[in-house]
Amino acid sequence: MSISVLIIDDSEVIRERIIKALKPINIFDRYIEAEDGLDGFKQLLSGPVELVLCDLEMPRIDGFKFLSMIKARPELQDVPVIMLTGVGDRVRKIKGLEMGASDYVTKPFDPEELVARVKIHLKIKQLQDSLRYSNNLLLEISNTDYLTGMFNRRYLMKELEKEFQRSARKESDMSLIILDIDLFKRVNDTFGHLQGDIVLQKVANQLQKELRGYDVAARYGGEEFIAILPDTALSEASFVAERIRLSVQSLMFSGELLPLTITASLGVAGIKHPECGSIDDLIKLADDALYRAKSSGRNRVVSAE
Ligand code: GH3
Ligand code: MG
Ligand code: MG
Ligand code: MG
Repeated sequence: MSISVLIIDDSEVIRERIIKALKPINIFDRYIEAEDGLDGFKQLLSGPVELVLCDLEMPRIDGFKFLSMIKARPELQDVPVIMLTGVGDRVRKIKGLEMGASDYVTKPFDPEELVARVKIHLKIKQLQDSLRYSNNLLLEISNTDYLTGMFNRRYLMKELEKEFQRSARKESDMSLIILDIDLFKRVNDTFGHLQGDIVLQKVANQLQKELRGYDVAARYGGEEFIAILPDTALSEASFVAERIRLSVQSLMFSGELLPLTITASLGVAGIKHPECGSIDDLIKLADDALYRAKSSGRNRVVSAE
C-alpha cells in the first residue's frame, strides 16, 4: 500500500518547498498537490491519504472551509491535518485547531520542524489505526463462536433484545427457532470429538443457508442453535423450521464421517403467543416445544401454538 501526503496550498513555490523538505525522510510514496480547499477535498476523497498539510489562506475554498468539509465526513475524522499559518496568526491558529486541525506550522517554515511534526502526527495516526483495528477485532471475537464462525450466545441475546423491542414498538411479528441435534453424543462416541466438531460446522453452515439475510442465527450452546426471524409469524417460522429439518437430514458427510446421517429436533415460538411477555418467555416457549419434539420421537418440528 502506498503512503500519500496531500499538500494543499495556492502557492506552487510553497508546495515544492514542502515536498523538498519531506522527500529525504522517505516515508511517503506519493505527494498529492492541490491548489485550494475544494481541489484538496476531492483528492482526499479519491484515495487513502495518511496526512494533510493545508494552507489557511487560499482563494475560493480556504483552509477553514476545507476543515469544515472534513468534519462532515466521519470516514475522514482520523486523517491528521497540519495547518500552514502565517506568523502572528494566533486567533486563526486557535480557530483551526478548534475546527479539527491536529497542529500547525508557521510560514516561512523550518524544514526540520515540519518534518518533526509530520512524524509525530503519522505516529499518532498509526497508533489510532491499530487501536481501531484491535477494537474491531475484539468486537468480532466477542460476538463470534470460535468453532462455527457463527454469532455466539452473547451476540444472540443482544440481537434478541433489540428485535424484541423493535417488534413491540412496531407491533410487528417475530419468531424464534431452537434447533438441537439428535443423539449428538453418539456422533462423538462413534467418530470422536474432532469429527463431531466437523458435524457442528456443517449444521451451522446449513442452517445459515436456509435463512434469509436479516434473520440472525447463532450457536446457543454445545449442539444447539437459535435463529431469530424478524417480521415472521409462527406459521411461517414453522415452515422454515421444517425446511431446515429436511436439509439437516439430507446433509452428506465425507471421509471418516461418510456413513453418517444426522437429524435435528426443532422448537418454534412466536411473540404473539399469549404467554410471551419477555425474551425469556419466548425462549422458554421454544425450548418447551423442542422438548416435546424430543420426547415425541425426535427429527421433527414442534411449534408453541
Ligand atoms: P438429544 O437427542 O436428546 O439431544 O441427545 P444428544 O446426545 O444430542 O444430547 P446430549 O445433550 O446428551 O449431548 C450433547 C452432546 O454434545 C454432548 C457433548 O459432548 C456434545 N458437545 C457439546 N459441545 C460440543 C462441541 O463443541 N464439540 C463436540 N464435538 N461435541 C460437543
Ligand atoms: Mg495561501
Ligand atoms: Mg442439547
Ligand atoms: Mg442433542
